[in-house]
Amino acid sequence: MNLAHTLLRVARADPRRPALYEGERLLFDYGQLAERVARLAAAMREGGLAPGDRVAVFMRNHPAYLEVFYAAWWAGLAVVPINAKLHVREAQWILDHAQARWAFVTPDVGAGLQAPGRILDVTGPQYPALFSASPAVLAERDAEDLAWLFYTSGTTGKPKGVMLTHRNLMTMGLTYFVDVDAIDCRDAIVYAAPMSHGAGIYAIPHVMAGARHVVPASGSFDPAELFALARTVGRLSLFAAPTIVKRLVDHAEATGSDGEGFKTIVYGGAPMYLADLQRALRVMGQRFVQIYGQGESPMVITSLPRSYLSDTAHPRYLQRLASVGFSQTPVQVRVATAEGEPLPPGEIGEVLVRGDTVMAGYWRDPEATAAALREGWLFTGDMGALDEDGFLTLKDRSKDVLISGGSNIYPREVEEVLLLHPAVAEVAVVGAPDPEWGEVVVAFVVARPGQKPATEELDALCLEHIGRFKRPKRYEIVAALPKNNYGKVLKRELRQRLQEDGPPAGG
Ligand code: AMP
Repeated sequence: MNLAHTLLRVARADPRRPALYEGERLLFDYGQLAERVARLAAAMREGGLAPGDRVAVFMRNHPAYLEVFYAAWWAGLAVVPINAKLHVREAQWILDHAQARWAFVTPDVGAGLQAPGRILDVTGPQYPALFSASPAVLAERDAEDLAWLFYTSGTTGKPKGVMLTHRNLMTMGLTYFVDVDAIDCRDAIVYAAPMSHGAGIYAIPHVMAGARHVVPASGSFDPAELFALARTVGRLSLFAAPTIVKRLVDHAEATGSDGEGFKTIVYGGAPMYLADLQRALRVMGQRFVQIYGQGESPMVITSLPRSYLSDTAHPRYLQRLASVGFSQTPVQVRVATAEGEPLPPGEIGEVLVRGDTVMAGYWRDPEATAAALREGWLFTGDMGALDEDGFLTLKDRSKDVLISGGSNIYPREVEEVLLLHPAVAEVAVVGAPDPEWGEVVVAFVVARPGQKPATEELDALCLEHIGRFKRPKRYEIVAALPKNNYGKVLKRELRQRLQEDGPPAGG
């Protein structure tokens, strides 16, 4: 089983089908793309890379991503995509840890990176020279062979290298058609988020379907550009973290667009608050599908398909909207105690998942592997509860749960309430160390432009909706929340800030 075979079969059956675009400009059809991939694969092999070797990719979003990924697989190698926002020293740590031999870079992010083999700038003259090799034959791979070393986004500690096999990614790709969206060759995917991470894996089902791949000309996220692309390209889908969805919806609202040209907006990667989701549905219509996954089981744990997002007559519609949906087809999902004992519906525990999309383990880290994978179950580190129908509601990452006066408080619950205030744009709730209570609740609030939510009003909202003990003891109004490249709020940084500040004078 070689994932690159999915490209070969489409290219053979329909070589003239458009494949890769930069903005609106068609670069290659499937026949040309597959030929380039086979030539690049040959250059990698002739350059001394052997099956099983790793190739690092440290680039901003660029059309070369697709070629490099598929060429590496074609040649029997594994890819190590590195988040383009990382400092070159952090990227170097990943490259060294992965023992990658070659690295493909764009000069804006990759300057200074070193590799034992070659460093190739995909915007420089060396890159086209690689395509003069005669096309390689597709390498034979075992289903359990490594295809992608997926370094976790590192909201805690050093990133870990998640080992994803050809089977993991093949299953993930096929599952998309059942649990996320039926796609065919008329569809298109736009890479608006980093291709080193969430967005890049969407290439896999879209290559399987022979669909079009669009890398925005700006190489980054620009709502105006995306809306224009949606209108010209048509049937355009994308993956977006909730913060990005919010900006798309803001743009649609400001310009009076209903999202024409967009087919599906897959959201996930961080909590989508109910109020934001309802607004998104109101402004842009039934174009949304939610996925819940993590690097360790990419894209595939649960999903909330379109039909459930539109089933407004269902008695538990709102609970379902606030959930992350139910288990995707190839996996089993369980909520369990820290020891792995399954819990009944309604009880909160750790989310466990088992199935063919679950990673083989962490690269060169048997201890972390043993902690995360036990008897075939992946311990996700997410806390949640299942309902009687199998819908999972996530509470928080286990490490984000705070304990105040002996009671567990799930910050997300408090955040949902504070977001009901019309002057609140964003909020993050964390625990601050407290000598009396262990931890106390602190809310970091970003106000909507020109507005200032009054603390008394926020407090009153909490009293109206949640237990008194969950109310924030302090509110910090801030200009912005610290986020990583994928739009996830870095609660670790907020907690650190509170630790450095110490308890406020007088209490
Ligand atoms: P990563 O491994 O960087 O993709 O991060 C995965 C983590 O993001 C998960 O373990 C969850 O904590 C969070 N996450 C992913 N999808 C969702 C979702 N739909 N809703 C809430 N949190 C999510």
